[in-house]
Amino acid sequence: MSDKYPGTPLDKGELKRGKIFMTSYVPKLRYCWDTGEAIGRYLEELRNGRLIARSCNGCQRIMIPPRMFCERCFRPTDEWVYVKDNGASHGMGILHLVKKAPLKQVRVGMPVRAVWRTPSQRRGSVTDISYWEPDSLNKEVG
Ligand SMILES: [Zn+2]
Repeated sequence: MSDKYPGTPLDKGELKRGKIFMTSYVPKLRYCWDTGEAIGRYLEELRNGRLIARSCNGCQRIMIPPRMFCERCFRPTDEWVYVKDNGASHGMGILHLVKKAPLKQVRVGMPVRAVWRTPSQRRGSVTDISYWEPDSLNKEVG
């Protein structure tokens, strides 16, 4: 307890005598979160097993996750573009899981490729991508 703001301690006697009103309840809080145009489309396309981004003609960037406004050019972005599951503009990225790579080799900018869940497992979430693996593994296979 602070000397500056001592407050008023509860007196257990007052509580027993019913002088202090108490109530309890379980609030029924329901809420929805609107993903917005850009992320809504992005999540929808993830469910389809595709990556979609927004392009900006001002700075020539391909932005993923997509956004309707370019923070660099301070203007609306221009077009929807599908991107391969192994590329986007430098500086873009998704926080996700990387597997099949030694930890010491994992770095920002490392070429990776998405490993997708099966279509029946997808939910319209970033986890529709099971994980990312080094892109070099795919080159060796096929
Ligand atoms: Zn831009």
